[in-house]
Amino acid sequence: MPYDAKTIMWQFSFPLSLSEAKELSAKGAKAMKEEACRRLKWHDPIPQILAATLEADITGYPVYDRKLFDPILLQEKENITLIGDAAHPMSPFKGQGANQAILDALALARKISVTCDKNPNWRESGVRKSILNKFEEEMAKRSATKVIDSAKAAQLLHSKVVLHEGNEPRGRWLSGF
Ligand SMILES: Cc1cc2nc3c(=O)[nH]c(=O)nc-3n(C[C@H](O)[C@H](O)[C@H](O)COP(=O)(O)OP(=O)(O)OC[C@H]3O[C@@H](n4cnc5c(N)ncnc54)[C@H](O)[C@@H]3O)c2cc1C
Repeated sequence: MPYDAKTIMWQFSFPLSLSEAKELSAKGAKAMKEEACRRLKWHDPIPQILAATLEADITGYPVYDRKLFDPILLQEKENITLIGDAAHPMSPFKGQGANQAILDALALARKISVTCDKNPNWRESGVRKSILNKFEEEMAKRSATKVIDSAKAAQLLHSKVVLHEGNEPRGRWLSGF
């Protein structure tokens, strides 16, 4: 995809065990570039794009899905909450991590504003009871579908299914797999 007027950026992902992924990432940019070149002996201009990429511009790390966020984990934390990746990390294959983080921030700001406006005595019941419990419950519900769908997309986009050729909507042929 375009990066600026003169450069493009590329992203390459492939399944590995967590230990292998950590090992490759720890070896650094040179090793990651070599691995990408080894795996991507595809049609032009892909090898040329890889060869022209400066090691200083390469970064790589393991990405993986975790269990769903459970609001119970924060019930004892009176004035502390989590938002974004800290609450519901997800692999990037649905492009939803930052979107959900922004929605979390907006939802929390709205909850604080509306609650404090409606109930000037909110301090008596405490931040957790008056604001955070409800906010976390809603965040967990909203983000869960994105976390689940990201994990499914990670599986799908690294499977042979993506090589299916057809001039039709993806949903139609997916149901056959
Ligand atoms: C390859 C890739 C592609 C992606 N594509 C998309 C996409 O297309 N669409 C999308 O919506 N999302 C995408 N995401 C996900 C998105 O980048 C994250 O979900 C988002 O950045 C999470 O925001 P955050 O603020 O929760 O966490 P972060 O962006 O990780 O911010 C946390 C910040 O806290 C700082 N920090 C950490 N520890 C400390 C400390 N002890 N003290 C002080 N500061 C600290 C970190 O340096 C960092 O700046 C992608 C992610 C990856 C890896």
